[in-house]
Amino acid sequence: MDGLAADVLAGVADEVRRCVLCPLHRGRLNAVPGEGRADAEIMFIGEGPGEDEDLQGRPFVGRSGKLLTEALEAAGLRREDVFITNVVKCRPPGNREPTPEERNICTKSYLFRQIDAVNPRLIVLLGSVAVQTLLNISSVTAVRGRAFEKGGRRFFVTFHPAAALYNPANRDIFFHDIKKAKELADSLKSFPRQSRLV
Ligand code: SF4
Repeated sequence: MDGLAADVLAGVADEVRRCVLCPLHRGRLNAVPGEGRADAEIMFIGEGPGEDEDLQGRPFVGRSGKLLTEALEAAGLRREDVFITNVVKCRPPGNREPTPEERNICTKSYLFRQIDAVNPRLIVLLGSVAVQTLLNISSVTAVRGRAFEKGGRRFFVTFHPAAALYNPANRDIFFHDIKKAKELADSLKSFPRQSRLV
């Protein structure tokens, strides 16, 4: 385990829990910095905390999170071996999408530092808000299941697990995508990791 990365992540988490940089801090019960291995090969980025996450202060612990955990296990990944977080760390009121300004403040203040610290081989973007924010692509449907390289980082795009909860076809696609992402990350193991987030 990379002690320096773990220290950086702990520092970011501390700042997130006290953060008042954007209006989303007003409605939160708990900020949700993210969790997982400091030296994870794969990092998962969703949209923002929902009700369960806000209650517990942990990412992806509600029904969507359960589905994500199942998909990880089906792909041969353990949840504790990856790093899981969101574009914004506080729950938007009524589960609305975070605004571009909220996303911008939160990613610049925290998410990019987390990516830099973990330095994963692959970043899996879960759903349209993550895809818009990290890749500037408006439609997840058009690019789902595809890998991208940007700023020296490798990304893989799939649905947010919420989109797969009530739709068996999407569920199969989501599970298949997570397996594909794992295989892609495995295939990158012979290459050195990037040293910096650009
Ligand atoms: S969403 Fe991000 S920037 Fe906004 S208050 Fe929470 S931690 Fe701070």
